[in-house]
Amino acid sequence: MSKSKKHTPALGADYSAKMKSRYAEKVKPSGKIYTKADRRDNRVVENMTKELNPDKKEDMTTQGGCLCGAVRFKINGKLRPIINCHCGQCLHTHGHYAAYSAVEKNNIQFVSDSGLKWFRSSNEARRGFCQECGASLFWERIGENKLSVAAGMLDSVQGIKTIGHIFIADKADYYEIDDDLPKYTQSSKGELEGDS
Ligand SMILES: [Zn+2]
Repeated sequence: MSKSKKHTPALGADYSAKMKSRYAEKVKPSGKIYTKADRRDNRVVENMTKELNPDKKEDMTTQGGCLCGAVRFKINGKLRPIINCHCGQCLHTHGHYAAYSAVEKNNIQFVSDSGLKWFRSSNEARRGFCQECGASLFWERIGENKLSVAAGMLDSVQGIKTIGHIFIADKADYYEIDDDLPKYTQSSKGELEGDS
């Protein structure tokens, strides 16, 4: 790669001045975008005791965000295990089924929400996405103190596993669910932890 092309954004990218600096932060000298593993390695550990007690998940801070960085957040405390949702709405906004964790709203703190937009996807729920990069980040039932967070948005997910599948009545025909986790035609109605 020639020197002059080192920091050329991807085709079609339209970065505002603010986004240019974000872009610069995320791009290695080699021109490659930082991966999750890189971000993990670069992470500043604010409190060493968090690292010394990996089993105390309540004390841990999890970071996450969208592809471009216009939505970034920190989560303090416990994350719900992952539930895969195969509903038609998730298929159409995530491009595939969705893998969601969930947190109490007062445990999430936005470092940046300049890209965050909400789409009222039904009478009872809304979905949060990034208007800059198109990432599908959140699902929220209106009036609840709980926020579902798409698992892939988390920089690292330690000790949390997928526990089941919901809304498989809507599952698309092009893929199979080939694990032994519990499956529910619709909601698990509370049978899966934190799913109601
Ligand atoms: Zn974004």
